[in-house]
Amino acid sequence: MTNTKKVAIVTGANRGIGLETCRQLNQLGIITILTSRDETKGKSALASFNEEDGNLLFHQLDVADLANVAQLKSFVIENFKRCDILVNNAGVFLDRGVSIFDLPEETLQETLEVNFLGALRMCQEFLPLMRDSGYGRIVNVSSGMGSISSMGGGSAAYKLSKLMVNGMTRIMAAEIKDEDIKINTMAPGWVRSDMGGSNAPRSLTQGADTIIWLATLPEDGPTGGFFEDHTPAIW
Ligand code: NAP
Repeated sequence: MTNTKKVAIVTGANRGIGLETCRQLNQLGIITILTSRDETKGKSALASFNEEDGNLLFHQLDVADLANVAQLKSFVIENFKRCDILVNNAGVFLDRGVSIFDLPEETLQETLEVNFLGALRMCQEFLPLMRDSGYGRIVNVSSGMGSISSMGGGSAAYKLSKLMVNGMTRIMAAEIKDEDIKINTMAPGWVRSDMGGSNAPRSLTQGADTIIWLATLPEDGPTGGFFEDHTPAIW
């Protein structure tokens, strides 16, 4: 099947900011692959859209499982032969308020496995497809908590995982700077989701807004940046 429509992949999209990102990408006419590690949750998220033109699809994906990432890549190659947009949104926050001196090593490993290595794996697998078509937009969903200049105590696993995502973004951007493949990292702000809780001031729409902007940047748009509300954030 050949198509000229752009194809986007969103990780951790069965709820929260990822699901909202799928909704907004789909509204722009972009073929959007909503992925979820849990098939039942992913399919029910997809069903919530009542979308029938085939532009929104589900595929199971646990970003902590390299074989699973490779399966998604095979699916994308077979069906679309391209990947234009990758939103690395899947995330866990397992050590809220825990002191670094009490942080269990397994918690740190589990957090890095999803938040950092998951995003790294996805970039490594899908960059070749972007290179084939000469176009790509990668958005890494980080956090203000990954900003080293304002980093305080507690929640070290989560903060370090986002700091690594930010560093990875810089390194990758430097390595692909001469191609029309842009990679940026962003902070959605404090958003009402399962992770953010009900007291958060921002809606899911606001949380996804900068993701959509970075996912659809023009050729002269920025790369290797860290953004919040469309403006540079402090590293
Ligand atoms: P959320 O509602 O908790 O959603 C997180 C999503 O990640 C869920 O769909 C979850 O799936 C998925 N996920 C977790 N582990 C995964 C894995 N191994 N493979 C694939 N998917 C996995 O949180 P959210 O607020 O929408 O967060 C989205 C992103 O924004 C995260 O990266 C988070 O760090 C970042 N962020 C959020 C806030 C905020 O205030 N909400 C602030 C700053 C940054 P399950 O349903 O299966 O668990």
